[in-house]
Amino acid sequence: MHPLAKLDLQFVWHPFTQMRDWLQREPIVIARGKGAVLWDVHNKEYLDANASIWTNLHGHCQPQINAAIRRQLGRIEHSSALGLANEPASTLAARLIHAAETGGQGDESPKARGGAKEKDSNKRPGAPLARVFYSDNGSTAVEVALKLAYEFARRAGFSKKPKFLSLQGAYHGDTVGAVSVGHIDLFHKAYAGLVFQTDKVMAPYCYRCPFNRARPERGDARDYRQCRWECLDVVEKTFARQTKKGNPYAAFVVEPLIQGAAGMIPQPAGWLGRVAEITRSHRSLLIADEVMTGFGRAGFPEGWTPSSNPPRPAPLFAVQHEGVRPDMMAIAKGLTGGYLPMAATLTTQAIFDQFLGGYEEFKTFFHGHTYTANQLASVAALASMDLLHGAASIQARQRIQRGMKSHARELWMLPQVGDIRQVGLVLGVELVKDWTKRETFPLAERAGMRVCEAMARRGVLSRPIGNVLLIMPPYCTTAKQLRIMFTVLHDAIAETFPE
Ligand SMILES: *Cc1c(COP(=O)(O)O)cnc(C)c1O
Repeated sequence: MHPLAKLDLQFVWHPFTQMRDWLQREPIVIARGKGAVLWDVHNKEYLDANASIWTNLHGHCQPQINAAIRRQLGRIEHSSALGLANEPASTLAARLIHAAETGGQGDESPKARGGAKEKDSNKRPGAPLARVFYSDNGSTAVEVALKLAYEFARRAGFSKKPKFLSLQGAYHGDTVGAVSVGHIDLFHKAYAGLVFQTDKVMAPYCYRCPFNRARPERGDARDYRQCRWECLDVVEKTFARQTKKGNPYAAFVVEPLIQGAAGMIPQPAGWLGRVAEITRSHRSLLIADEVMTGFGRAGFPEGWTPSSNPPRPAPLFAVQHEGVRPDMMAIAKGLTGGYLPMAATLTTQAIFDQFLGGYEEFKTFFHGHTYTANQLASVAALASMDLLHGAASIQARQRIQRGMKSHARELWMLPQVGDIRQVGLVLGVELVKDWTKRETFPLAERAGMRVCEAMARRGVLSRPIGNVLLIMPPYCTTAKQLRIMFTVLHDAIAETFPE
């Protein structure tokens, strides 16, 4: 065994890991990376098929980001955001607000929108995002949003005892507030006594939706479903019930377009826009958790093409696909291109204004993390944003999105594939025992884990969510590397479940 592997087994406690299993074998110890490739200490080569848990955007050791960090190292590494501003964090805040307010708008041409001449950003209902509160990770970005929403609802007189609503199966992070709006029993049961009470509402999980009357087919369940959008009625009724109690929800927390850790559960087109309207009609705040979906991960709407006249910036956030303006947006994972821990909560001016007052009024938002607005992370994020806006990255992302769609078709030949769901550059494959009945594998069979172990042996790294396998490539992935990721996924499933 490699001496570094020994040290890990002796001293490190890994996240979300049954350490008794972990201690049984030599772990893969990563030594270096380049682009979509990782090498371990034995010099074995792997493709990073889940972008190092959804964080890496442009590949490892990306030359421009490396150079930006090196340049910043020659100036200063960190100074406190308590009482001090700094150069890259100020620039980054402006860039984030600009990206959130101008990107996307799908394939709607001005004509399709009734010839309206207003700028895209003015077309969407709701107020623009205007302020950036920095923190360190996805959980804290959500935590900040919850605390802001709580105080906002109280101070604006909307509610004395603000309540939150989130989606069934939701995952928004591991700090206590973020756990409270999560609904994965496996993670949350143990801490039931610690978390505060929130409500959950049906998520649009078409493949397993009780309202979907269609028999299983070899296709994305969103495309062949037979329903009357009952899931939206449920959201509407849930809001109405709470409003009737005289205490409307302070906020609805949603992962837009696709729920990640819930099992890569995508929303049928139109769901998000409608849910945003319902939320607004009850004067609740919409908190978009874009920790996974942000920074181009949600891809491009069907038929999207770049255009300079009229200007049509590429969508960087999932909400932009449906012209939705959230009141708050939590971003983290891809913010620094996968380089450094940094997160942000974007809010409207109205929310910001509720925290203004005399020093002695103590309306201050009493919250902050030590490494907030770190300079090295900020320059990594700025370099990443430059790359994202470049034509080369936009083209590569479009190619990868199309490539994933076409490679995924070959997986339908496998009888253990029940549902394949793709949103942009995220693809989930739900394994089932019997696809004609959508019959699940018992969790104890570790079906997803076993397939991923077989994939690792073949040089492709990913991590399942229960029985859902996923492919989430870095944007630098070549056509050849993408094909290998899918071939290996296919062969690993076939190997794990021999006829
Ligand atoms: C990963 C994730 C989080 C938590 O982020 P951490 O950086 O792990 O704290 C929150 N929300 C979503 C949607 C995520 O995918």
